[in-house]
Amino acid sequence: MVRFLLAALFTLTLNACATDTGKSESALPPILPEPPLEKIAEGVWIHKSYEVIKPWGPILSQGLVIKTDTGLILVDTAWGDDDTEILLEMISKETGELPAATVVTHAHQDKMGGMDALHEAGIETFAHAFTNEDAPKRGLTPAKTIVLENSTQSTVTDGVTLFYPGAGHTRDNIVVYYAPAKILFGGCLIRPGDSNNLGNTADGDVANWAKAVRKVAAQFPEAEIIIPSHGAAGGRELLDHTIALAEEAANE
Ligand SMILES: [Zn+2]
Repeated sequence: MVRFLLAALFTLTLNACATDTGKSESALPPILPEPPLEKIAEGVWIHKSYEVIKPWGPILSQGLVIKTDTGLILVDTAWGDDDTEILLEMISKETGELPAATVVTHAHQDKMGGMDALHEAGIETFAHAFTNEDAPKRGLTPAKTIVLENSTQSTVTDGVTLFYPGAGHTRDNIVVYYAPAKILFGGCLIRPGDSNNLGNTADGDVANWAKAVRKVAAQFPEAEIIIPSHGAAGGRELLDHTIALAEEAANE
């Protein structure tokens, strides 16, 4: 009996290992990494999650975690509820607390696919009115509270500023600036340096995109670190790069 149990345990262990390495079945979709946290400044982390989007394969999406005196602010969820639950665990392990509030930067799955996991955990959620309007049409859960209702800029807490520059990647895209670290989270409005196109423009306003990025650049002249959703952080050259891509696309 003992021998049988040991054999069963051994088989289970082998299966678990095979799953971890992702080498077990080539017919299965790739096993994506769990969302990691990368510390980029004192009290600031980039969170990353991956989703297989056909025909491109696994796509990285990034958000931010900011530690403020009034609690942690999470900017954007992971792609889905499961990854967002894992993300919350990692945040809690890394910082000793759960986010007090989450702001999502537009109504697409990579930015707010994990809203239900946040609400389940009792975390406050905030979004632009357009985001809440568009979310249900795209199968997404709206935020509990609307921000930027009567102005294009709002400082939510302790150096964290939200700004609505007008339509670009979507009509509702907002950016988040954290003044103490001079970090600007541009979301999907800002393209990574190694990208030669605007990415997903299905819900976008290509004609207005460059203007929206110029507004962001003018609004936050002190910003030094610019973080896009889908690639490496950089400096202000990412703003110019995106403006150039948007102008090129608008002239096509
Ligand atoms: Zn998007």
